[in-house]
Amino acid sequence: MTELATPPAAERTEITRIGHWIGGRSVAGTSGRSGPVYNPATGRQTGEVDFATVDEVDAAVQAAKSAFLEWRTMSLAKRAELFFRIRELVHDRRDEVARILTSEHGKVLSDARGEVTRGLEVIEYCCGLPTLLKSEYSEQASTGIDVYSIRQPLGVVAGITPFNFPAMVPMWMWAPAIATGNTFVLKPSEKDPSASLWTAELLKEAGLPDGVFNVVMGDKVAVDAVLNHPGIAAVSFVGSTPIARYVYETATRNGKRCQALGGAKNHMIVLPDADIEMAADAAVSAAYGSAGERCMAVSQVVAVAGAAEPLIDAIKQRIPEVKVGDGMDPSSEMGPLVTREHRDRVASYVENAPGEGATVLVDGREGAPENGFFLRPSLLDNVQPGMKSYEDEIFGPVLGVTRVDTYEEAVRLVNENPYGNGTAIFTRDGGVAREFQFHVQAGMVGINVPIPVPVAYHSFGGWKASLFGDRHIYGPEGIDFYTRGKVVTSRWPDPATSKVDLGFPQTR
Ligand code: NAD
Repeated sequence: MTELATPPAAERTEITRIGHWIGGRSVAGTSGRSGPVYNPATGRQTGEVDFATVDEVDAAVQAAKSAFLEWRTMSLAKRAELFFRIRELVHDRRDEVARILTSEHGKVLSDARGEVTRGLEVIEYCCGLPTLLKSEYSEQASTGIDVYSIRQPLGVVAGITPFNFPAMVPMWMWAPAIATGNTFVLKPSEKDPSASLWTAELLKEAGLPDGVFNVVMGDKVAVDAVLNHPGIAAVSFVGSTPIARYVYETATRNGKRCQALGGAKNHMIVLPDADIEMAADAAVSAAYGSAGERCMAVSQVVAVAGAAEPLIDAIKQRIPEVKVGDGMDPSSEMGPLVTREHRDRVASYVENAPGEGATVLVDGREGAPENGFFLRPSLLDNVQPGMKSYEDEIFGPVLGVTRVDTYEEAVRLVNENPYGNGTAIFTRDGGVAREFQFHVQAGMVGINVPIPVPVAYHSFGGWKASLFGDRHIYGPEGIDFYTRGKVVTSRWPDPATSKVDLGFPQTR
């Protein structure tokens, strides 16, 4: 395998080759297969990413396997110290990675910084790893017998991640995985891979031993190699529902632990008693932020009775104010979509809306910047179950409005939807809000909060077709996912040896 030069800078003028990171160094791919990486704001190709072979995935797993014993043996105090160093480096250099995110994903710089900050919170949570791994002890369970439960790492674990959060979603995985003593193989999205190499270099700089964190670039070949590799104990996946289902079924059939987070269709219910101006601000922010390419984006507003007219008017007033442009321009509020194909697919929902009976109130195909993969925000009214614009996860800046007469109809829509990622209700009625959080079939619920992404010390995950597996990601459930329990029952004779040591007790 050949050494590669330092991974790409954020603004490139030539097409950069993007390879793997195995055993603590950059490694060029050997498959002869690769894919283009674009700057979505210009439409210009900036990179070419290598696609791994089965052997290259195996090389990453072997590197992780070799590093495992030393890593899991390192004291919790030293591991925590290293995590604090990682935290400092990510914090100090977050602008650097934000520029990489903007240049390959397209999201505006402030949003890219926000992504890194939310990921950083997961790293900060993991700095408390000695507390997170503290176990339970039952003294004198029987006469002279003590019983204790401990949690140990699984071994080599893998993460497969989507294009829309190229830094944060990998952090959701690698941070708790390696904090708990596992070694890690990441297969990032092939659409915006450079943030993963940036992470690999940063972790090395922080002092992470070689082989603890590895990156293999690629497509289905690499994913299948991960799913079929006998040396990988667990797989975390985040991406679309069909692939999540496939990953979960294949990984578990192969005896691996798996958590596979899928797509979403997040409904935001607005009751007539809500603060309509606040609800409109929330709907516009949550629908069009990051060009709607968020799994927690609000894609469907359900307006109850009298809320519909004033809410739609307020949303319509705000849309022309949204500044769409290159994410590197500080005045831009919404960037382009990730690829030309995806932009065209999203635009097709607006084009087809009248044919299926919906009303196009704002057409985002008009007035978008010409270069790059841009669309402006679109607003569809009278969207109904059964229409493609209602049923599909559009994953772009298209907000649908469904009008219903009652709160009960609104909740039924949410509960009958096959997805169950996030949902929100806007109301001033605490009793209704409580009844909503009690009955609604979704994993993350917002009450007057449109994007209820849990803080790092709670766990993130949807219900129904938005998550396959029984553990949510990061937070306490993430620690649980990457460890397994062991229960020790012990009996000791009285201590026979002892010595005097006047030194201050050391941890390492
Ligand atoms: P995707 O499913 O196309 O890709 C995700 C990963 O799977 C990538 O690494 C990709 O290389 C790989 N992959 C793609 N096709 C594959 C195939 N046929 N076989 C094996 N592997 C394959 O998703 P995406 O377009 O990158 O990301 C957007 C999707 O991710 C949306 O559906 C969004 O809702 C979802 N998402 C969900 C969450 C969540 O927390 N639930 C978070 C972020 C994104």
